[in-house]
Amino acid sequence: MRRVLITGANRGIGLELVKQFLESDAYVLAGCRDPRMAHDLHTLEYSHPNLKLLRMDVSDENSIDTAKKQAQGFVDGIDLLFNNAGVNFGEENITNLITEEMIYCLQVNAIGPILVAKHFLELLKKGSKPIIINISSDAGSISNIQEFRGYSYSGSKAALNMYTRALAFDESTDGIIVIALHPGWVSTDMGGSSAPLTPPESAAGILNVVNRLTPAEHGKFLTIDGSVHPW
Ligand code: NDP
Repeated sequence: MRRVLITGANRGIGLELVKQFLESDAYVLAGCRDPRMAHDLHTLEYSHPNLKLLRMDVSDENSIDTAKKQAQGFVDGIDLLFNNAGVNFGEENITNLITEEMIYCLQVNAIGPILVAKHFLELLKKGSKPIIINISSDAGSISNIQEFRGYSYSGSKAALNMYTRALAFDESTDGIIVIALHPGWVSTDMGGSSAPLTPPESAAGILNVVNRLTPAEHGKFLTIDGSVHPW
């Protein structure tokens, strides 16, 4: 049974990943900032004993470490880590930039995933063919940007892409496949209602990529059809 940790699991793409992994009989650790408010996860919990909720705010290293200790009570290894939690404050330009929002974006979208990898490293090393999937964005692709797409979110995803490469080449993570993955433009609270993909479609694509992943993809930035995304 695959053991999967998903951050930001109480809505959007994260929640859909939880559902699809439960359908595939995985053991799912669902990270969420406030389990009391995670109504959809609680509903799933009733019918899925393989689902465990972890309180985890990825902007807070103590919270990540506490979640790790909680996870150790449930599993002795993790096979898949989805760094999915993310924030996007939306419209901004050079005239209205807010320092705190820029820093918080970096903290949640780039530093958080690396700290989750740091604290869950030992559990991942005990996993079977472990994989870290950093949910990135085409907005973080420097070479692809041909129009203004803001600062905070795109900058934080570009940082996440670099951290993904760093993690892939860090000898301390030897044996773990690390990738960045663009989930497509998805109709969630973040993606908005005009997005062409539904969360089930995006999550199905993500699962498809992850299920076919080989060491040849280590350190790459992929899309949900499995092709390589330009950095
Ligand atoms: P949503 O806004 O729907 O969900 C974001 C999730 O992240 C929520 O569960 C939220 O929890 C959680 N989260 C936010 N901050 C934190 C934090 N500090 N600690 C823990 N969890 C946190 O977004 P999506 O589902 O659309 O996005 C999922 C991922 O996909 C993100 O990384 C996003 O950048 C990426 N992405 C999405 C695209 C899209 O079109 N939707 C396109 C490209 C990339 P809470 O409910 O508590 O706020």
